Amino acid sequence: MASRKILVVQKYGGTSVGNIERIKAVAKRVARTADEGKGVVVVVSAMSGETDKLIALANGVSSSPPEREMDLLLSSGERITSALTAMALEELGKRAMAFTGRQVGIITDTLHTKAKIEKITAGRVKEAVKKGIIPVIAGFQGITETSDVTTLGRGGSDLTAVAVAAALKADACEIYTDVDGVYTTDPNIVPEARKLDRISYDEMLELASLGAKVLQTRSVELAKKYNVPLVVRSSFNYNPGTVVIKEDEEMEHVVVSGIAYDKNQAKITVMGVPDRPGIAARLFSSIAEADLVVDMIVQNVSSDGKATDISFTVPKTDSKKALNLTEKIVKGLNAKGVALRDDISKVSIIGVGMRTHSGVAAKMFATLAKHNINIIMISTSEIKVSCVIDAKYTELAVRALHDAFGLKKK
Ligand code: ADP
Ligand code: ASP
Ligand code: MG
Repeated sequence: MASRKILVVQKYGGTSVGNIERIKAVAKRVARTADEGKGVVVVVSAMSGETDKLIALANGVSSSPPEREMDLLLSSGERITSALTAMALEELGKRAMAFTGRQVGIITDTLHTKAKIEKITAGRVKEAVKKGIIPVIAGFQGITETSDVTTLGRGGSDLTAVAVAAALKADACEIYTDVDGVYTTDPNIVPEARKLDRISYDEMLELASLGAKVLQTRSVELAKKYNVPLVVRSSFNYNPGTVVIKEDEEMEHVVVSGIAYDKNQAKITVMGVPDRPGIAARLFSSIAEADLVVDMIVQNVSSDGKATDISFTVPKTDSKKALNLTEKIVKGLNAKGVALRDDISKVSIIGVGMRTHSGVAAKMFATLAKHNINIIMISTSEIKVSCVIDAKYTELAVRALHDAFGLKKK
C-alpha cells in the first residue's frame, strides 16, 4: 500500500494576511510546503482590523445590531482573504480553491456570534486535497442546519483550523501569527518575555481562557479533546515556534509558567440583597438562560444577617445585557441597587506546578501590594490564581508578576 502523504493544516491570522504583500508572502509559504511534498489545507482570518471595522459599521446603523445579520456581515472579512489567497496561489502556478464555511460543511448550533461547531463534513476539501488542489478556507464561520451564517466567537479562525485538522485527521495544525510562539506572557507588553518551546494543553487552556489571545480558548479545548498536534509559529520567519502537547513529567517542575491578563471584563455588584437561600440561584439561572458566561462570583456574609452584596464578572461585550437582566431580577428583591464597573481587568498566574507548591498565591498578593495595586476580587483553581484589579494597573501588574516569578529570559 502506498504511504499516505503528510497532511498539514496551516492557519494564517489577521496580521499575517494584513495587506496584499502579506497575502503574497503567505501564498509563497504555502506553495513551499506543497513543494516539500506535503498535502496542505489553508485557513485564513480576515485582514487585521477588518472584523473591528465591520462591527463599527454595524454599530453605525443600529444601537443593537441583530445577531443573525451581524454574523452575515462579519463572515465577509474571511471570505475576502480566502479568495485573495487562492488567487495568489494560482498566480504562483499552484492549483487552489477558496471555500466558505458553508462550502466546507461546518455545521454549527444557532448561537449567533459565538456558535459551536456540531459537525464538519469537509467533503469538498477532501476531494480537493485528493486532486492536488490547495483548499483555502475562510475561517471563523459556519452555517446552521437551516442555512443561516454563524460566526465562532472572536479569534474563531483558530477553531476552524483545529476542527478542520481533527476532521481530516491531519498530521499537524500550524497556527501562524505575528509572534514567534507562546511566551511566558504577552511579548508586546513585556519585551523580556521568554518563548516556550512547549506547553501542555491544560496550561495553554488556562492561558487562553485567562486572556492570552494567541490561541482562542475553544480551539485549545478541541485540540486537547481530539489530540490535534498544535504548533504556534510566526508567519514572518522560520523559527521553530511552540508545540502544544500533553503534559509530561518534565513540565511539572515549573511552578508558574505564564502570566495572562484580560481587559475584556466588567463587574456587576448587587448591593443589599436579602441574605436567604435561593437568591443567587435565581439571579444566576436567569443569566445562564440568556447564554451569558459568568466568570468570578463573590458574595459576602452579611454582618447583620439581613442584607449582603453579590459581585460577579462577565465579558465586557455582554455587560449591558447582564446589567439589564440583573436589574430586572433585583427589582422584586428589595435590593439597594445595582452597579456596573468596566474599568477593571483580570491578571492571572498559571502553572501546573502549583498543584504541589504552597505560597504561590501569597507571593502574587505581596507582589501586587508592593506596587500599591489593590485587589478587587480573587479566584483560584488547581493551576491558576486570578486577581481583578483596576484596569489602569494591568501592564504594571503583568510586568511585576513576570519578574517576581522569575520568568524573564536568562
Ligand atoms: P492572529 O491575528 O494571528 O490570530 P492574535 O492577535 O489573535 O493573532 O494573537 C497574537 C497576539 O497574542 C500577539 O501579538 C500577542 O500580543 C498576544 N499574546 C497575548 N499573550 C501572549 C502570549 N502568552 N504569548 C504570545 N502572544 C501573546
Ligand atoms: N476575524 C475574526 C476576529 O477578528 C476571527 C479571527 O481572526 O480569528 O476575531
Ligand atoms: Mg487570533
